[in-house]
Amino acid sequence: MTNDQPNQNITFAPMTNTTKTKAVFLDRDGVLNREMGDYVCRIEDFHILTYNIPALKQLQDKGYTLIVATNQGGLAKGWYTEEQLAEMHQLLRDTYKAGGVEITDIFYCPHHPNFTSDCDCRKPKPGLLLRAIEKYNIDPSLSYFIGDRERDVEAGTAAGVKGILIDSDQPISEVLHFIE
Ligand SMILES: [Mg+2]
Repeated sequence: MTNDQPNQNITFAPMTNTTKTKAVFLDRDGVLNREMGDYVCRIEDFHILTYNIPALKQLQDKGYTLIVATNQGGLAKGWYTEEQLAEMHQLLRDTYKAGGVEITDIFYCPHHPNFTSDCDCRKPKPGLLLRAIEKYNIDPSLSYFIGDRERDVEAGTAAGVKGILIDSDQPISEVLHFIE
């Protein structure tokens, strides 16, 4: 064996990233924009709750990735298009971004049981959260889901994430003490 042969005894650590992300998942309507009582179909009716900017900034500064998880069954019903939804979500991202808050991703369920086949992502099912957890290497046990419906908490629990139930349009600052 000569010196320039590779040493067969060296083992290399696998190149996996073991550092897990922690996230605060956010429902959309009634949490990030005003609850209008039904699906928001028009950008004119999409009123962003900018009073939540400081609280979200605080969560971000604590190291939480912010991810939206929202049921958008209005798509299945044909009440609005993916393009109109994308326009609303761009406005949402831009408005929070102007306040220094980065919304990392928005996961939405486009299905509705009366109009499409069954799915695994319409809350209270955890599919949206599970997709996000996979995509961003999130540790659910370090993560939270803030929503204004019982189904948000249920989806969170099913994904191993702690649910925080707020009233519709309640300031997020009022529940920050639940988050470590
Ligand atoms: Mg809601």
